[in-house]
Amino acid sequence: DVSLSIERGRTLGLVGESGCGKSTLGRAVLRLHEPTAGEVILDGQPITGISHRELKQRRREMQIIFQDPYASLNPRRTVLQTLREPLDLHHIGKPAERRRRVEELLELVGLRPEAMSRYPHEFSGGQRQRIGVARALALDPKLIVADEAVSALDVSVQAQVLNLISDLQQELGVSFLFIAHDLAVVQHVSHDVAVMYLGKLVESGPAAEVYSAPKHPYTRALLSAVPVPDPQGHRQRIVLPGDVPSPSNPPPGCPFHTRCPEVMPQCREIVPKSIQVGAADSTHRAVCHLYG
Ligand code: SF4
Repeated sequence: DVSLSIERGRTLGLVGESGCGKSTLGRAVLRLHEPTAGEVILDGQPITGISHRELKQRRREMQIIFQDPYASLNPRRTVLQTLREPLDLHHIGKPAERRRRVEELLELVGLRPEAMSRYPHEFSGGQRQRIGVARALALDPKLIVADEAVSALDVSVQAQVLNLISDLQQELGVSFLFIAHDLAVVQHVSHDVAVMYLGKLVESGPAAEVYSAPKHPYTRALLSAVPVPDPQGHRQRIVLPGDVPSPSNPPPGCPFHTRCPEVMPQCREIVPKSIQVGAADSTHRAVCHLYG
């Protein structure tokens, strides 16, 4: 029961604790996990309910950047082989054109053409993730799912890769579903944000609005844990009691009621509805009885 929309050329940041279903959702969007119900529509055309043959064609329009740049590149293939593979699979261009396209992709992500003949172990983590970004861009996709794309990198390298992704988005107009558990990272790259808890969306809206005026108690708790980059700055930390319940056996009523600091009697029994919580024309919504 998760509904999201991403506009062309914009980034939707999807946040939540580990195990809340962010990656499953991202993979279901791409049909890497087959969704058991619901619809995925890309550029007005369905992705769900189409044959594998049609899906193969449509895979050109949607790509993924994986979390671990050490595991996501085949160690036995050169960068040329890795980046040319999507072009080979989709029969795009002649061999010389494919090689030129690989050169172009390397330039786009800030790597030199000499990198083509090298193997993944010859690169740093940040450079490997640049190769991962180049592979995702090889087919000129409309949508890229970036699944924790920078969380395995050092902080200084994270910033470089995030800036690269932002620059490429402006240049190429690709839409991103940016999945991360680090709210500061998501704030840096996202136009819109959606917060997930136990497989459900609990708050969504324009990033600036959600970050400056979070409405759902879970979003408030998550934001209170983001470090303030100022030695004098203080933020009242909201510590949530207990563990995340099992997603296969979620609590009745509001799934967050077992940990919510503002729980009310009805929260234990009645499932809250999604309510508009921002200005009249805002897309800011929260799923909470506080706004019923
Ligand atoms: Fe907390 Fe109740 Fe809102 Fe759920 S519905 S987040 S338990 S106040």
